[in-house]
Amino acid sequence: MLYKKIPKKIYNHFHKIFSGSNQNTFKICSECGGVCEHNKIGTLLPGEEEYMAEKMGISVLEFKIRYLDVLKMDDGTLIYVLKLGKLCPFLNEENKECDCRDFKPIFCKIYPVIITLEDEKINFTIDNWCKLSRKKACRTYFETAIPLLSSFAIPVEWLRYVTSYDYLSFDYDQLEKCRRGKNKYAVFSLEELLSLQKTEIETASLYINLSQKIEEPVF
Ligand code: SF4
Ligand code: SF4
Repeated sequence: MLYKKIPKKIYNHFHKIFSGSNQNTFKICSECGGVCEHNKIGTLLPGEEEYMAEKMGISVLEFKIRYLDVLKMDDGTLIYVLKLGKLCPFLNEENKECDCRDFKPIFCKIYPVIITLEDEKINFTIDNWCKLSRKKACRTYFETAIPLLSSFAIPVEWLRYVTSYDYLSFDYDQLEKCRRGKNKYAVFSLEELLSLQKTEIETASLYINLSQKIEEPVF
């Protein structure tokens, strides 16, 4: 199925008014070590590949080859994701910073805000798995992104596919093996992807994190 691309001006507007990080979040993320960067799938919203390619001044084809893989659903729907590998292709290995900070994928920028689907309705909630969620000041900051997200008009059917893998952790060693023989811009079926999960780490982290309380502001 083909989904209407979200216009570039919507992405531009969001990035102008929501930075997604500040001094407080940098400190917490650096102490955390960036665990959300590992084993998770970074999904791009419909049309986001075109927006990001334009921001980088390269063609959409070049952008896809350098930075993306594609998930192909049973009905032919294509979902673009950041290249599946041990490190995100935008993670700068020297300074450990994101090389596309000003136009990074919306799902990266809003995290720990996550999008869920309940009874055909799209909900936004804070992921208690992330350390930012446990500092009241950070939680409050990320909650300001929620009303802004309605402008994206995310298609429910598209999101249904994303929620089928978005909360899982994947074994990137296995994914890399699975990539062999595929093109650089590789196509993975949902079935193939779901067979490469790494569940034990996720369960352990979730248990520890959910037992902790939200701290009042200390900044
Ligand atoms: S899990 Fe949360 S605190 Fe840790 S790096 Fe990711 S966003 Fe930052
Ligand atoms: S695009 Fe940036 S924020 Fe998103 S996973 Fe990659 S390095 Fe991290």
